Amino acid sequence: MDTKIILRFDDICPNMNWESFLYIKEHLIQLGIRSLLGVIPDNQDKKLLTYEYKDKFFEIINTYKDYGDTIAQHGTFHKYTSNSSGLLKINNRSEFAGHSFKYQYSLLEKGKSILKKNNCWQPVFMAPSHSFDEITLDCLKKLGFKQITDGYGFFPYQRSGIEFIPQNSSMPFNLGFGVTTLCIHSNSLNKKDINKIIDFIKLNRNRIIPFEEYISIPTPSPFVVKTLEIFTAKSIQSLRKIRNYKRSANQSL
Ligand SMILES: [Zn+2]
Repeated sequence: MDTKIILRFDDICPNMNWESFLYIKEHLIQLGIRSLLGVIPDNQDKKLLTYEYKDKFFEIINTYKDYGDTIAQHGTFHKYTSNSSGLLKINNRSEFAGHSFKYQYSLLEKGKSILKKNNCWQPVFMAPSHSFDEITLDCLKKLGFKQITDGYGFFPYQRSGIEFIPQNSSMPFNLGFGVTTLCIHSNSLNKKDINKIIDFIKLNRNRIIPFEEYISIPTPSPFVVKTLEIFTAKSIQSLRKIRNYKRSANQSL
């Protein structure tokens, strides 16, 4: 048995580092790998607007959808409007967490309608900066979403009627069980990192599954699932604290 891996791309929109994205994608297609694409319905994130713009964006996305990739709605505008770190406490910024039901519902609905209009909405959500709260989950459920690509642990689990497919690390270990998600931020990777990821993917090809196949992962008892979730949440949070401490120590130098 292996820990299975889902590959996910964040920040897919008309403005991005197309050269890096297409380079990685080409290798994945050669290996017959299908991945999860986090598509921003209407990007208004100024940071992303600095990247090269490509026309006919949704036509490109639809060719990937036809190939067998899964499309996740990555927010709506990818514009941060609150300082809430939401349920996962990873980043202190959010497009959704901290806002009212009415606000979140109409924002999510707007994003969904854009993807629907372009024939590529699927019931999967990817929160910008991993930040969402109970209200977001409630809205997602009411809007017909089924899964969220986020959370701790090594097994999918249900919360507020939404299935969480865990996402733990940038270079997944093989623990011999469960599933994890490798996040590829193709915009910010340099050539060396990209080649490292491609080498990792080639080496671990037999562990990589399409997003939908998480259903076939044998799940242990709810107690074990919950224990692993708490354990990874705690260890990941303390690793982040150490990293942030080192960062602030370096900055004060
Ligand atoms: Zn993002």
